[in-house]
Amino acid sequence: MKAVRLLPIALSFLLLTGCAWEAAAPAQAEEAHTVELLAMDTIMRITVYGPDGQKAADQAADRILELEDLLSTTDTGSEIYGVNHSGGAPAALSGDTVRLLDQALTLCESTGGALDVTIYPVVRAWGFTTGACQVPGGDELAGLLEQVDYREVALEGSVLTLPRGAEIDLGAVAKGYTGDQVAALLLDAGVTSALLELGGNIQTVGAKPDGTPWRVAVQAPEGGYAGVLEVEDKAVVTSGGYERYFEQDGEIYWHIIDPATGYPAQSGLTSVTIISDRGVEGDGLSTALFVMGAEKAASYWRENGGFDFVLIDEEGGVTITEGIEDSFSLYGEWTDHDLTVLRP
Ligand code: FAD
Ligand code: MG
Repeated sequence: MKAVRLLPIALSFLLLTGCAWEAAAPAQAEEAHTVELLAMDTIMRITVYGPDGQKAADQAADRILELEDLLSTTDTGSEIYGVNHSGGAPAALSGDTVRLLDQALTLCESTGGALDVTIYPVVRAWGFTTGACQVPGGDELAGLLEQVDYREVALEGSVLTLPRGAEIDLGAVAKGYTGDQVAALLLDAGVTSALLELGGNIQTVGAKPDGTPWRVAVQAPEGGYAGVLEVEDKAVVTSGGYERYFEQDGEIYWHIIDPATGYPAQSGLTSVTIISDRGVEGDGLSTALFVMGAEKAASYWRENGGFDFVLIDEEGGVTITEGIEDSFSLYGEWTDHDLTVLRP
């Protein structure tokens, strides 16, 4: 079953739209070992450098598939599916789900509910996970929003109790957690240089084999690259309105929902990239800051710190935080765009 999800490499190179470049640059002194797979509805690529790299890359792929089986909202065999259909009864969770949910709830709290893991009834009504995309009626959304409130999630030890009718969706944080888990697995295996491309999530282990930083591109919303970041040992996670959307009657509706309204977040931003030590934080915050918009995102950064960001707004303006001033540069046609550097 799992082997089905491992992609033939030639095919996946054509399909991959990830943002890490130079990933497979042939000039590396150390041999690159690459595994590609289709997981969490995206194409993933793990590149590990050094001896025993293939074994470590294969273990990484197994770990990703294990987490996918646990965390999917749509797979009827997953733990999350079971919890979402528990009818309000307490459910015992595995260690991974407890750790991820716990970290996610902390982010829900710190972002004041801009990230809300109980958003699933609304996401499903829009059809983003089922493929039957549609604009739900206002009354339907209002009713569903009554079930959305992360503060109603009771996680005691490894036992989760959801109010009847509530359903959780870890889609905004699961790839980040997966990146953290895979990076830890590789470090345990003695790997010192690796690149994880998990859809819009990039996670780097160490530096490139030649000791220089990884160069990660920030995608421009309309395609191409807006900028380039140099990073080591970081997660670089992007959420954008251009990734998953549908069009109806001339309007575009995307998959990042404002939990306050039940509608796709219209905050004036088209893309948010978070640069952080932990993938789960980067993933949760990229979604939450997209919902918040530029002003609240800046306040959140000033109050909480510990990460950097690249915001792209609807006018094409780019705002970055001070910590990446020396490691970020606009790229190509984007060098003409306005660039603002935020200070604490
Ligand atoms: P992010 O910004 O990181 O997350 C957006 C996603 O989070 C939305 O799609 C929604 O699910 C949820 N969300 C939206 N708004 C909020 C909010 N305010 N707070 C919290 N969460 C929010 N997609 C499929 O179409 N079919 C599948 O079978 C499928 N299986 C998956 C299995 C797993 C284990 C995972 C992790 C994802 C899967 N996906 C699947 C993709 C998933 O539905 C999301 O589209 C994806 O995780 C979005 O990631 P992102 O990086 O594009 O956006
Ligand atoms: Mg996210």
